[in-house]
Amino acid sequence: MPLLARMLAAPLVIDVRPGAVTGLGALLADRRIATEGRVAVAVGPGQGDSIVAELQIDAAEIFRVTDGTHDSAVSLGKQLRSGAYEAVAGIGGGRTIDVTKFAAHMAGIPMVAVATSLSHDGIASPVSSLEHESGKGSYGVVPPVAVVVDLDRVRSGPPRLVRAGIGDVVNNLSAIADWELAGADRGEPIDGLAVTLARTAAQAVLHQPGTVGDDDFLTVLAESLVLSGIAMTVAGSSRPCSGGDHEILHAIDQLFPGAGSHGELAGVGALFCTYLRGDERLFALMSACLGRHELPRTPADLGLAPDEFTKAVLHAPATRPGRYTILERLDLDEREIAVKVTAFTAAVTSAGPSAGPSAGPSAGPGGA
Ligand SMILES: [Zn+2]
Repeated sequence: MPLLARMLAAPLVIDVRPGAVTGLGALLADRRIATEGRVAVAVGPGQGDSIVAELQIDAAEIFRVTDGTHDSAVSLGKQLRSGAYEAVAGIGGGRTIDVTKFAAHMAGIPMVAVATSLSHDGIASPVSSLEHESGKGSYGVVPPVAVVVDLDRVRSGPPRLVRAGIGDVVNNLSAIADWELAGADRGEPIDGLAVTLARTAAQAVLHQPGTVGDDDFLTVLAESLVLSGIAMTVAGSSRPCSGGDHEILHAIDQLFPGAGSHGELAGVGALFCTYLRGDERLFALMSACLGRHELPRTPADLGLAPDEFTKAVLHAPATRPGRYTILERLDLDEREIAVKVTAFTAAVTSAGPSAGPSAGPSAGPGGA
Protein backbone atom coordinates (compact mmCIF):
# COMPACT_ATOMS: atom_id res chain seq x y z
CA MET A 1 0.00 0.00 0.00
CA PRO A 2 1.46 3.40 -0.88
CA LEU A 3 2.15 5.65 2.10
CA LEU A 4 0.46 8.89 1.18
CA ALA A 5 1.90 11.71 3.28
CA ARG A 6 3.78 14.91 2.85
CA MET A 7 7.36 15.56 3.90
CA LEU A 8 7.97 18.64 6.01
CA ALA A 9 11.09 20.71 6.53
CA ALA A 10 10.82 20.78 10.31
CA PRO A 11 13.55 21.56 12.86
CA LEU A 12 15.65 18.60 14.06
CA VAL A 13 15.67 19.93 17.61
CA ILE A 14 13.36 22.03 19.77
CA ASP A 15 14.89 22.77 23.18
CA VAL A 16 12.93 25.09 25.51
CA ARG A 17 14.29 25.30 29.08
CA PRO A 18 16.18 27.41 31.58
CA GLY A 19 19.91 27.57 30.81
CA ALA A 20 19.52 26.16 27.28
CA VAL A 21 22.32 28.39 25.90
CA THR A 22 24.98 26.42 27.79
CA GLY A 23 23.93 23.21 26.02
CA LEU A 24 24.44 24.67 22.55
CA GLY A 25 27.91 23.18 21.97
CA ALA A 26 26.72 19.67 22.85
CA LEU A 27 23.62 20.07 20.70
CA LEU A 28 25.68 21.04 17.64
CA ALA A 29 28.02 18.08 18.10
CA ASP A 30 25.49 15.42 19.17
CA ARG A 31 23.07 16.14 16.36
CA ARG A 32 25.90 16.22 13.80
CA ILE A 33 25.00 19.79 12.86
CA ALA A 34 28.67 20.74 13.21
CA THR A 35 31.18 17.93 13.58
CA GLU A 36 34.54 19.53 12.83
CA GLY A 37 34.10 22.43 15.21
CA ARG A 38 33.99 25.18 12.61
CA VAL A 39 31.00 27.09 13.86
CA ALA A 40 30.06 30.72 13.54
CA VAL A 41 28.11 32.36 16.34
CA ALA A 42 26.23 35.60 15.72
CA VAL A 43 25.21 37.53 18.82
CA GLY A 44 23.11 40.64 19.28
CA PRO A 45 23.98 43.85 21.04
CA GLY A 46 21.87 43.20 24.15
CA GLN A 47 23.09 40.13 25.98
CA GLY A 48 25.85 39.34 23.47
CA ASP A 49 28.93 39.53 25.69
CA SER A 50 27.49 37.61 28.62
CA ILE A 51 26.28 34.87 26.25
CA VAL A 52 29.69 34.52 24.63
CA ALA A 53 31.20 34.02 28.09
CA GLU A 54 28.75 31.19 28.79
CA LEU A 55 29.21 29.31 25.51
CA GLN A 56 31.18 26.10 25.66
CA ILE A 57 32.07 25.73 22.01
CA ASP A 58 35.69 25.26 20.97
CA ALA A 59 36.83 27.18 17.93
CA ALA A 60 33.63 29.15 17.57
CA GLU A 61 34.06 32.43 15.77
CA ILE A 62 31.93 35.26 17.14
CA PHE A 63 30.19 37.81 14.93
CA ARG A 64 28.35 40.87 16.26
CA VAL A 65 24.98 41.79 14.79
CA THR A 66 24.49 45.47 15.50
CA ASP A 67 21.18 46.13 13.75
CA GLY A 68 18.36 44.44 11.84
CA THR A 69 19.12 45.74 8.37
CA HIS A 70 19.32 43.91 5.06
CA ASP A 71 22.84 45.36 4.68
CA SER A 72 23.97 43.73 7.95
CA ALA A 73 22.46 40.41 6.86
CA VAL A 74 24.22 40.52 3.46
CA SER A 75 27.51 41.45 5.11
CA LEU A 76 27.23 38.55 7.59
CA GLY A 77 26.21 36.24 4.73
CA LYS A 78 29.41 37.14 2.82
CA GLN A 79 31.56 36.51 5.91
CA LEU A 80 29.91 33.14 6.48
CA ARG A 81 30.40 32.18 2.83
CA SER A 82 34.09 33.11 2.78
CA GLY A 83 34.80 31.44 6.15
CA ALA A 84 33.62 27.94 5.12
CA TYR A 85 31.66 27.35 8.29
CA GLU A 86 29.65 24.18 8.90
CA ALA A 87 26.84 25.96 10.67
CA VAL A 88 25.88 29.25 12.27
CA ALA A 89 24.05 29.88 15.53
CA GLY A 90 22.13 33.13 15.85
CA ILE A 91 21.77 34.02 19.52
CA GLY A 92 19.60 36.93 20.59
CA GLY A 93 16.26 38.60 20.06
CA GLY A 94 14.14 38.81 16.92
CA ARG A 95 16.48 41.07 14.95
CA THR A 96 19.60 38.96 15.48
CA ILE A 97 17.73 35.79 14.51
CA ASP A 98 16.26 37.42 11.38
CA VAL A 99 19.68 38.70 10.27
CA THR A 100 21.35 35.32 10.93
CA LYS A 101 18.58 33.35 9.19
CA PHE A 102 19.02 35.42 6.04
CA ALA A 103 22.86 35.22 6.20
CA ALA A 104 22.77 31.42 6.67
CA HIS A 105 20.39 31.06 3.71
CA MET A 106 22.75 33.18 1.61
CA ALA A 107 25.78 31.12 2.63
CA GLY A 108 23.91 27.83 2.20
CA ILE A 109 24.64 26.52 5.70
CA PRO A 110 22.31 25.31 8.48
CA MET A 111 21.20 27.84 11.09
CA VAL A 112 20.41 27.24 14.74
CA ALA A 113 18.10 29.83 16.29
CA VAL A 114 18.83 30.50 19.96
CA ALA A 115 16.14 32.85 21.21
CA THR A 116 16.71 35.05 24.24
CA SER A 117 13.36 36.81 23.85
CA LEU A 118 9.87 35.80 22.76
CA SER A 119 8.80 39.00 21.07
CA HIS A 120 7.53 37.55 17.76
CA ASP A 121 6.95 34.37 15.77
CA GLY A 122 10.12 34.49 13.67
CA ILE A 123 12.00 32.02 15.90
CA ALA A 124 11.28 29.00 13.69
CA SER A 125 9.70 30.61 10.62
CA PRO A 126 10.88 30.54 6.98
CA VAL A 127 10.67 34.34 6.84
CA SER A 128 13.31 36.95 7.63
CA SER A 129 12.06 40.47 8.29
CA LEU A 130 14.76 43.08 7.57
CA GLU A 131 14.95 46.87 7.37
CA HIS A 132 16.07 48.55 4.16
CA GLU A 133 16.23 52.09 2.73
CA SER A 134 12.49 52.24 2.04
CA GLY A 135 11.13 50.46 5.10
CA LYS A 136 10.92 46.81 6.02
CA GLY A 137 10.85 43.73 3.81
CA SER A 138 9.99 40.06 4.36
CA TYR A 139 12.37 37.58 2.73
CA GLY A 140 11.73 33.86 2.30
CA VAL A 141 14.59 31.82 3.79
CA VAL A 142 15.35 28.24 4.85
CA PRO A 143 13.91 27.79 8.38
CA PRO A 144 16.27 27.03 11.31
CA VAL A 145 17.50 23.44 11.65
CA ALA A 146 17.23 23.68 15.45
CA VAL A 147 15.44 26.02 17.81
CA VAL A 148 16.66 26.70 21.33
CA VAL A 149 14.86 28.97 23.79
CA ASP A 150 16.68 29.86 27.00
CA LEU A 151 14.01 30.67 29.58
CA ASP A 152 16.57 32.24 31.98
CA ARG A 153 17.49 34.74 29.30
CA VAL A 154 13.87 35.35 28.31
CA ARG A 155 12.85 35.99 31.92
CA SER A 156 15.65 38.49 32.47
CA GLY A 157 14.63 40.57 29.44
CA PRO A 158 12.36 43.63 29.59
CA PRO A 159 8.80 42.39 30.42
CA ARG A 160 7.34 44.49 27.63
CA LEU A 161 9.48 42.59 25.11
CA VAL A 162 8.49 39.19 26.52
CA ARG A 163 4.78 40.02 26.51
CA ALA A 164 4.78 41.22 22.90
CA GLY A 165 5.02 37.67 21.54
CA ILE A 166 1.58 36.96 22.99
CA GLY A 167 0.08 39.40 20.46
CA ASP A 168 1.93 37.73 17.58
CA VAL A 169 0.53 34.30 18.50
CA VAL A 170 -3.03 35.24 19.43
CA ASN A 171 -3.33 37.14 16.12
CA ASN A 172 -3.22 33.74 14.33
CA LEU A 173 -6.95 33.39 15.09
CA SER A 174 -7.71 36.56 13.16
CA ALA A 175 -5.31 35.60 10.36
CA ILE A 176 -7.00 32.18 10.00
CA ALA A 177 -10.46 33.80 9.91
CA ASP A 178 -9.19 36.05 7.11
CA TRP A 179 -7.81 33.02 5.26
CA GLU A 180 -11.18 31.26 5.57
CA LEU A 181 -12.85 34.42 4.26
CA ALA A 182 -10.51 34.35 1.25
CA GLY A 183 -11.42 30.69 0.75
CA ALA A 184 -15.16 31.46 0.79
CA ASP A 185 -15.08 34.68 -1.27
CA ARG A 186 -12.19 34.03 -3.63
CA GLY A 187 -11.70 30.27 -3.68
CA GLU A 188 -8.21 30.63 -2.19
CA PRO A 189 -6.97 27.15 -1.16
CA ILE A 190 -6.70 26.70 2.61
CA ASP A 191 -4.07 24.38 4.06
CA GLY A 192 -5.71 22.45 6.88
CA LEU A 193 -2.44 21.35 8.46
CA ALA A 194 -1.10 24.92 8.60
CA VAL A 195 -4.42 26.05 10.12
CA THR A 196 -4.30 23.22 12.69
CA LEU A 197 -0.82 24.21 13.88
CA ALA A 198 -1.45 27.97 13.89
CA ARG A 199 -4.84 27.72 15.61
CA THR A 200 -3.64 25.27 18.29
CA ALA A 201 -0.73 27.60 19.08
CA ALA A 202 -3.03 30.60 19.50
CA GLN A 203 -5.62 28.71 21.56
CA ALA A 204 -2.90 27.45 23.92
CA VAL A 205 -1.74 30.99 24.70
CA LEU A 206 -5.28 32.38 24.82
CA HIS A 207 -6.32 29.91 27.51
CA GLN A 208 -3.05 29.38 29.39
CA PRO A 209 -3.26 30.81 32.93
CA GLY A 210 -0.26 32.52 34.48
CA THR A 211 1.95 35.38 33.39
CA VAL A 212 5.25 35.99 31.65
CA GLY A 213 6.77 35.73 35.13
CA ASP A 214 6.38 31.95 35.31
CA ASP A 215 8.11 29.22 33.33
CA ASP A 216 4.93 27.24 32.59
CA PHE A 217 3.45 30.18 30.72
CA LEU A 218 6.75 31.03 29.00
CA THR A 219 7.11 27.42 27.81
CA VAL A 220 3.64 27.46 26.23
CA LEU A 221 4.38 30.84 24.63
CA ALA A 222 7.75 29.65 23.28
CA GLU A 223 6.28 26.41 21.88
CA SER A 224 3.36 28.33 20.35
CA LEU A 225 5.76 30.72 18.59
CA VAL A 226 7.67 27.69 17.27
CA LEU A 227 4.42 26.06 16.08
CA SER A 228 3.44 29.30 14.32
CA GLY A 229 6.75 29.28 12.47
CA ILE A 230 6.23 25.67 11.38
CA ALA A 231 2.67 26.54 10.27
CA MET A 232 4.18 29.14 7.90
CA THR A 233 6.65 26.57 6.56
CA VAL A 234 3.76 24.15 5.95
CA ALA A 235 1.72 26.84 4.18
CA GLY A 236 4.70 28.11 2.20
CA SER A 237 3.70 31.64 3.18
CA SER A 238 2.89 33.75 6.24
CA ARG A 239 -0.88 33.29 5.59
CA PRO A 240 -1.73 31.25 8.76
CA CYS A 241 -0.16 33.92 10.99
CA SER A 242 -0.71 37.14 9.07
CA GLY A 243 -3.95 38.70 7.82
CA GLY A 244 -5.59 42.10 8.14
CA ASP A 245 -3.93 42.29 11.57
CA HIS A 246 -0.46 42.42 9.99
CA GLU A 247 -1.63 44.78 7.23
CA ILE A 248 -2.61 47.24 9.98
CA LEU A 249 0.69 46.53 11.77
CA HIS A 250 2.72 47.33 8.64
CA ALA A 251 0.65 50.46 7.97
CA ILE A 252 1.24 51.77 11.52
CA ASP A 253 4.96 50.95 11.15
CA GLN A 254 5.09 52.96 7.93
CA LEU A 255 2.92 55.94 8.96
CA PHE A 256 3.68 56.19 12.69
CA PRO A 257 7.00 54.44 13.30
CA GLY A 258 7.69 53.63 16.95
CA ALA A 259 4.04 53.36 18.01
CA GLY A 260 4.58 49.80 19.23
CA SER A 261 6.62 46.64 18.74
CA HIS A 262 5.69 43.97 16.18
CA GLY A 263 3.79 41.78 18.65
CA GLU A 264 2.00 44.71 20.31
CA LEU A 265 0.74 46.02 16.96
CA ALA A 266 -0.25 42.51 15.82
CA GLY A 267 -2.44 42.15 18.93
CA VAL A 268 -4.26 45.46 18.38
CA GLY A 269 -4.65 44.74 14.64
CA ALA A 270 -6.11 41.31 15.36
CA LEU A 271 -8.54 42.66 17.93
CA PHE A 272 -9.73 45.36 15.51
CA CYS A 273 -10.17 42.89 12.62
CA THR A 274 -12.05 40.50 14.93
CA TYR A 275 -14.35 43.40 15.85
CA LEU A 276 -14.91 44.15 12.14
CA ARG A 277 -15.78 40.51 11.54
CA GLY A 278 -18.43 40.71 14.28
CA ASP A 279 -17.07 37.65 16.10
CA GLU A 280 -18.17 38.71 19.59
CA ARG A 281 -17.02 35.57 21.39
CA LEU A 282 -13.48 35.67 20.01
CA PHE A 283 -13.38 39.45 20.49
CA ALA A 284 -14.14 39.06 24.21
CA LEU A 285 -11.60 36.24 24.66
CA MET A 286 -8.84 38.06 22.78
CA SER A 287 -9.50 41.37 24.52
CA ALA A 288 -9.40 39.66 27.93
CA CYS A 289 -6.13 37.89 27.06
CA LEU A 290 -4.38 41.05 25.82
CA GLY A 291 -5.71 43.00 28.83
CA ARG A 292 -4.60 40.31 31.31
CA HIS A 293 -1.04 40.53 29.98
CA GLU A 294 -1.06 44.35 29.94
CA LEU A 295 -0.75 44.53 26.18
CA PRO A 296 -2.18 47.48 24.21
CA ARG A 297 -5.69 47.01 22.85
CA THR A 298 -6.84 50.43 21.64
CA PRO A 299 -5.30 53.18 19.50
CA ALA A 300 -4.84 55.27 22.69
CA ASP A 301 -2.86 52.41 24.29
CA LEU A 302 -0.44 52.75 21.35
CA GLY A 303 -0.30 56.53 21.76
CA LEU A 304 -2.28 57.01 18.53
CA ALA A 305 -5.22 59.39 18.05
CA PRO A 306 -8.40 57.83 16.57
CA ASP A 307 -7.84 59.64 13.24
CA GLU A 308 -4.24 58.36 13.06
CA PHE A 309 -5.39 54.77 13.60
CA THR A 310 -8.13 55.37 11.00
CA LYS A 311 -5.49 56.49 8.47
CA ALA A 312 -3.45 53.36 9.20
CA VAL A 313 -6.46 51.07 8.62
CA LEU A 314 -7.21 52.91 5.35
CA HIS A 315 -3.61 52.43 4.19
CA ALA A 316 -3.37 48.81 5.46
CA PRO A 317 -4.48 46.88 2.30
CA ALA A 318 -1.78 48.65 0.24
CA THR A 319 0.95 47.15 2.44
CA ARG A 320 0.22 43.61 1.26
CA PRO A 321 -1.18 43.61 -2.28
CA GLY A 322 -2.90 40.37 -3.18
CA ARG A 323 -3.77 39.32 0.37
CA TYR A 324 -7.56 39.19 0.84
CA THR A 325 -8.77 39.87 4.39
CA ILE A 326 -11.73 41.41 6.20
CA LEU A 327 -10.29 44.84 5.25
CA GLU A 328 -10.49 44.11 1.51
CA ARG A 329 -13.90 42.44 1.92
CA LEU A 330 -15.45 45.51 3.64
CA ASP A 331 -13.47 48.07 1.59
CA LEU A 332 -14.48 50.88 3.98
CA ASP A 333 -13.80 54.55 3.23
CA GLU A 334 -12.14 56.89 5.74
CA ARG A 335 -15.40 58.10 7.28
CA GLU A 336 -16.74 54.56 7.69
CA ILE A 337 -13.47 53.41 9.28
CA ALA A 338 -13.56 56.36 11.73
CA VAL A 339 -17.03 55.27 12.89
CA LYS A 340 -15.79 51.68 13.40
CA VAL A 341 -12.70 52.87 15.32
CA THR A 342 -14.88 54.84 17.76
CA ALA A 343 -17.24 51.89 18.27
CA PHE A 344 -14.29 49.48 18.60
CA THR A 345 -12.67 51.57 21.34
CA ALA A 346 -15.96 51.70 23.23
CA ALA A 347 -16.39 47.93 22.86
CA VAL A 348 -12.88 47.25 24.24
CA THR A 349 -13.48 49.55 27.19
CA SER A 350 -16.77 47.86 28.05
CA ALA A 351 -15.49 44.32 27.34
CA GLY A 352 -13.36 43.88 30.40
CA PRO A 353 -10.57 45.09 32.63
CA SER A 354 -8.36 47.81 31.25
CA ALA A 355 -4.85 47.08 30.09
CA GLY A 356 -3.55 48.93 33.13
CA PRO A 357 -0.67 51.29 32.49
CA SER A 358 -0.49 52.36 28.88
CA ALA A 359 1.91 50.28 26.81
CA GLY A 360 2.53 53.25 24.55
CA PRO A 361 5.94 54.39 23.35
CA SER A 362 7.08 55.79 26.71
CA ALA A 363 5.67 53.01 28.87
CA GLY A 364 8.93 51.31 29.66
CA PRO A 365 11.99 49.55 28.35
CA GLY A 366 11.94 47.34 25.32
CA GLY A 367 11.58 49.90 22.56
CA ALA A 368 9.69 49.33 19.36
ZN1 LIG B 1 4.02 38.64 13.12
